[in-house]
Amino acid sequence: MNEEAIHHAREVLNSAGSVFVLTGAGVSAESGVSTFRGQGGLWNKIDPMTVATPEAFARDPEYVWRWYDARRAELQHCRPNPGHFALAQLERNISDYFLLTQNVDDLHEQAGSRNLAHIHGRIWEVRCTREDTAWEDRRAPLPEIPPRCPQCGALLRPNVVWFGEIINREAIDRTERFLAEREVDTVIIAGTQAQFPYIIHWAQSSRGARGTLIEINTEETAFSPYADLSLRGASGVILPQIVRDFA
Ligand SMILES: [Zn+2]
Repeated sequence: MNEEAIHHAREVLNSAGSVFVLTGAGVSAESGVSTFRGQGGLWNKIDPMTVATPEAFARDPEYVWRWYDARRAELQHCRPNPGHFALAQLERNISDYFLLTQNVDDLHEQAGSRNLAHIHGRIWEVRCTREDTAWEDRRAPLPEIPPRCPQCGALLRPNVVWFGEIINREAIDRTERFLAEREVDTVIIAGTQAQFPYIIHWAQSSRGARGTLIEINTEETAFSPYADLSLRGASGVILPQIVRDFA
């Protein structure tokens, strides 16, 4: 069943002028990154309200930072998988390409993706809670927990979006600009259960009247009925197959 769909997806991509890609936790999980939701997910082991809310951080910044420090240390050992590389390869061959990821790691960048935004922030960045400036700090473990701003001495926080917070403004703006300026030929949504309404909204609205929506996931999702092509399997297996014709 997949074989025919993969062939079709390949044809669609080969004639696509503009491509919009949405990725989620499943794409990172194949690189060994712990996922938050689902079986064995981090949120089964720890209540997200104790580490991923502004209230938790205000109450106990050291506890929150120890948890993020451990996530960062774990990520240092993760490398991009064939799905990340396939998307970077696709980007090099499609002039009009934009990737929006829900992942906070930088595995897409490591694989060579360039035109992308992180809707839920970046775990390798710290942000000053007073000045609201953010910068990259790849040290893991961090030498001081909780870390403080070298400029003003205020607490630093991970530059990720927590529960109850507004999603990354810059990522929203860049996504909406990309989608407003063109009618997208192909939308790929990979490795996400698409629980967030804005993800569903963008995936559906971006394809316009003629675009093709390709979903890649190991299992059926709430989004599957809206997909033109629903490919079952790991993105690290499926994506390299559908971009095979791109050198
Ligand atoms: Zn500061």
